[in-house]
Amino acid sequence: MVRRLLVLLALTNGLPASVYASQPDHKRIMILHSVGREFRPWNEYARTMRAELDRQSPWPLDVQEHSLVAARSADVNSEAPFLRYLQALYANHPPDLVIGVGAPAASFIQRTRQQLFPATPVLFTTIEARRVDYSVLTGNDTVVAVTHRFLVLFESFLRISPETRTIAIVNGDSPNERFWRGEMQRELKPLEGRIEIRWYDKFSYEDTLKQLAALPSHSAIFWYQMVADAAGVAHEGDRALTRLYNVANAPIFTHDDSFFGREIVGGPMHSALGRSRIAVSVAMRILGGENPGEIKTPPSEFAVAKYDWRELQRWGISEARLPPGSEVHFREASAWEKYRWQIAAACGVVLLQATLISILLYERRRRHFAEVEARQRMSELAHVTRYSMAGELTTSIAHELNQPLGSILVNTETAALMLDSPTLDVNELKEILVDIKRDDQRAGEVIRRLRSLLKRAPFEAREIDLNQTVGETLDLVSSLAHARGVTVESVLSAAPLPVKGDRIQLQQVLLNLVMNAADAMAYLDKPQRRIVVRTARDRDFAEIEIADHGPGIPAGKLAEIFEPFYTSKPSGMGMGLSIARTIVEAHDGEISAENRGGEGALFRIRLPLALSSALAAS
Ligand code: ADP
Repeated sequence: MVRRLLVLLALTNGLPASVYASQPDHKRIMILHSVGREFRPWNEYARTMRAELDRQSPWPLDVQEHSLVAARSADVNSEAPFLRYLQALYANHPPDLVIGVGAPAASFIQRTRQQLFPATPVLFTTIEARRVDYSVLTGNDTVVAVTHRFLVLFESFLRISPETRTIAIVNGDSPNERFWRGEMQRELKPLEGRIEIRWYDKFSYEDTLKQLAALPSHSAIFWYQMVADAAGVAHEGDRALTRLYNVANAPIFTHDDSFFGREIVGGPMHSALGRSRIAVSVAMRILGGENPGEIKTPPSEFAVAKYDWRELQRWGISEARLPPGSEVHFREASAWEKYRWQIAAACGVVLLQATLISILLYERRRRHFAEVEARQRMSELAHVTRYSMAGELTTSIAHELNQPLGSILVNTETAALMLDSPTLDVNELKEILVDIKRDDQRAGEVIRRLRSLLKRAPFEAREIDLNQTVGETLDLVSSLAHARGVTVESVLSAAPLPVKGDRIQLQQVLLNLVMNAADAMAYLDKPQRRIVVRTARDRDFAEIEIADHGPGIPAGKLAEIFEPFYTSKPSGMGMGLSIARTIVEAHDGEISAENRGGEGALFRIRLPLALSSALAAS
């Protein structure tokens, strides 16, 4: 109720709104910034302190922030009006606590301590111990400071990058920064002769950047601060460091982790969060009524070194060189860490596929072996049955051999007589020798064919002309046909019929079919015993037909005759057609039988043409 009344009063009577905040259960804090609200590292400390105040304070807080802009340069003329402004602002209700952020703010407060709020406690924070004038501290003041140790920073960097020969120091030209140049020079003296230290505080930042873009190899950059450059230009915000990062050809290290997060390689640094927490806990004690002068906080040293993994990679700095216990931040997750499940799933699928493929390959191999084995067996069986066929052929072949051998004998006897005769006709003698040679070749050819038929050879597919194979087979069978009184006619296609196949096995098939046809016509009168063998091309197939004039195949047995051991002959084996089918199918072909409407049986073989062959084109 009281609150509502006060707000109403504030709105209607123009009373300062701060009256509302000055109620006994509220605490008012004034934060005084050094050179502006957005200068690092101070802004980062102020931000984390405000967050910590919210977190740690048991009271509602009214936090008001002001900036001592004049500290960017050595201009002290604006101090007096600024002081009057603050006095006016807080005349009736001074704050419960003043927090000075940074050295310029501390210096201002200490200089104006008596005029400002002599009775208000002051907490000096975000400040290096050297920048506090302890001699004029009042019992109402306390300090939460840090200690810079530049040599520690530089030595630490040189340990992770020992080949460094030049270190460029980026530091502005504001009064506070000038103070630090002197301190750094003094502290870094032990490095003289070991490395070259370059300064840029007398250049504009633009010129500084140009020089830092072209540092000699084995250089590094120490970023201290850039409040205002030698040209008097203030660099508020993060742009100055970002620009440096974009052009610099060397790694950058610094003293405070509020700069850390992209541009900085890392190292030992002050911790903004750690310091802010301590400062706020001290603030809470003061607001709680403790005497500030009695709160003594020792200045803090650098926190545990931390590094930016991305920058370590970029500059090729090995993690092995980092001091023990260092923290490495921003490590990019490896592909495995990022996509662990996806990779595992993909590997699983690949593994499954690989297993399936292996099984299929194994099966294919097994099938291939089985096929080779089957073909081998078939070749052996075919060989055996060829022997049995050869038995039948032999009688007629022996008869066929008798002819040329007989005429050779007659011719040699005639030649011997001619040699004894007083009138030797040399020309006739020559003719006799030509005859002997021809008969010998004929006999030799008969034997060669028989031997090749009986050859035990594995299945071997070669490109052959089916017409030629048919011709050779009919030659082989001619004497048998003659002996049995069978005429064999052949009607061969005009064009060659190239197929890929085993010549001997195909011969065997034909031989079997012709001999079966001859068997089927054995009871007929001789003139009726006719076999017609045709070859033709039917699109991409070569066809062979063997037609006889026998009784044909009994009805219902057309398929059965190709089964093993089916025979209608008293001394038959019933293996011929079964082997013929196996051979034809091994050639990717088909064999079939039909009856020619009571005029005999017809066997048809279809084999795929070897279309890529030169023969096929002709
Ligand atoms: P085999 O000649 O030892 O009997 P095949 O497998 O060569 O064995 O023949 C099987 C059977 O098919 C023959 O016994 C016969 O009954 C029948 N056959 C084969 N060819 C003919 C044909 N041209 N005419 C009639 N029947 C035939």
